[in-house]
Amino acid sequence: MPENVVIDVVVVGAGPAGMTAASCLAQSGVRVLVLDEHTAPGGQVYRGVEKVTDKRSADLNVLGSHYRNGSKLVERLHSSGAQYWPGTSVWEISAAGESTLAVGVVRDGRVRLIQAGHIILATGAMERPTPFPGWTLPGVMTVGAAQTLLKSSGLVPDGRIAVAGSGPLLYLYVSQLIKAGKKPQVILDTQPRASLQAKLSVLAALTVDPASMFRGLGWMREVRREVRVRKRVHRLRAGGVEKLSSISYVSCDRQFTDDVDLLLVHDGVIPNTWLAMSAGCRHHWDVQQRCWVPDITGAGQTSRQSVSVVGDAAGIIGADASVLHGEAVASEVIACLEGKQQNALGNAAHPLLVRQQRLLRRCLDQFYPPAQEFELPPDDETIVCRCEEVTAGQIRQVATLGCVGPNQGKAFTRCGMGPCMGRKCGVTVSRLIAEHHGLGMDEVGHYRIRPPVKPITVAQLAELEIDADAHTA
Ligand SMILES: Cc1cc2nc3c(=O)[nH]c(=O)nc-3n(C[C@H](O)[C@H](O)[C@H](O)COP(=O)(O)OP(=O)(O)OC[C@H]3O[C@@H](n4cnc5c(N)ncnc54)[C@H](O)[C@@H]3O)c2cc1C
Repeated sequence: MPENVVIDVVVVGAGPAGMTAASCLAQSGVRVLVLDEHTAPGGQVYRGVEKVTDKRSADLNVLGSHYRNGSKLVERLHSSGAQYWPGTSVWEISAAGESTLAVGVVRDGRVRLIQAGHIILATGAMERPTPFPGWTLPGVMTVGAAQTLLKSSGLVPDGRIAVAGSGPLLYLYVSQLIKAGKKPQVILDTQPRASLQAKLSVLAALTVDPASMFRGLGWMREVRREVRVRKRVHRLRAGGVEKLSSISYVSCDRQFTDDVDLLLVHDGVIPNTWLAMSAGCRHHWDVQQRCWVPDITGAGQTSRQSVSVVGDAAGIIGADASVLHGEAVASEVIACLEGKQQNALGNAAHPLLVRQQRLLRRCLDQFYPPAQEFELPPDDETIVCRCEEVTAGQIRQVATLGCVGPNQGKAFTRCGMGPCMGRKCGVTVSRLIAEHHGLGMDEVGHYRIRPPVKPITVAQLAELEIDADAHTA
């Protein structure tokens, strides 16, 4: 693409949602720039798909048939005419003029502001925090992090592995590990006994999307054949001095202790809302998904003019629904750029499929609710804010002293003020305060997120370049 091209739309995130939205826009003649902090397109689900397809094709068998779908999305992005900047972190969204927004980016160590008429946030999801005693020990990590190593570098963990938590991603990863030749020692399933409503929701999901459901049931069957699964696990603790050496837990009312080298934990995913929150988009607490989601009208329009959200960042919907949502949001943005009226689903090509996928997600949400003891750690000594080492007991203590929200909690304890900027503790801190006062999450609120949402240095800021008139280099 030639230099000094004016950008109509900036898309942040090159996962299925961002790639699809950008491809649709570019193919309609809109000038699009896609930014992603990773070095290759694919997002979380299709991480490293180009490299795996080109250089590690044997790993395609390990990662499964669904993973191959990512190649088509990446090819479409590359051939669409959209400009794509990998390795680019977005740290701010601000107003640049009456009808222009500025996107603060850091790329190759240089900080700059890029101007655009519309911004689509396709920032995806992150794993739900899982605080429990010992979760900060070296040797305890998330399933998502381990899966990222598998996708990006073909890395398979060594030693005695335990996997704890619940949800489809947990079983998917273990089935991938088994295909890669490694069997975990045990799975500690924290899923509570399924309610009648949850069981009915599985039947509903089977009628809505049998292919996905049978795929998921297939992973579970395969995993349960090969690995011992302890059910209804609670009171999970990781023990060790310098690093993890053992875990203890209760399963079906029996106490267990196992020696392990690695504990992988997962309890579902929540939207990555940091950029949308820092841009001033209104959010609310989604009671069903138990997470913060942006207020949306139409397909993806946020409360802030000319800022849209798409994919998991708008509420967890999964990879396939993110593609459909990407199409819907793109058509809504095109209508908006042309000054046309849109309908409630943004002229989506497949509104029915979008609704079906959302229904499937609701069913999964009911079947895999987050574990109560990860949401509200019962032990006061459990560290909640890893960066500042603030415990659940300290949060309860400041709530007792009258602290009514997480921002006030920062002043008392420094929780949420470390390098992760509250990503690992935001939900837990608000939940603990809400529970103490008997308030709803919307009343307690979330940390106020301010830019920069990604680390930049003072020296980089001092050399800030402003690409006036939305020029790109
Ligand atoms: C760790 C993890 C692993 C997962 N693995 C699977 C899986 O194997 N199979 C499956 O079906 N689902 C998986 N999921 C769920 C899956 O990611 C989503 O359902 C789907 O990918 C959502 O697509 P998306 O385009 O909305 O977001 P994503 O695919 O998550 O893409 C978001 C992109 O935004 C970029 N981004 C975010 N913030 C910034 C910023 N400030 N600056 C620049 N770039 C930014 C990220 O780098 C990322 O590439 C996983 C989720 C997580 C968190």
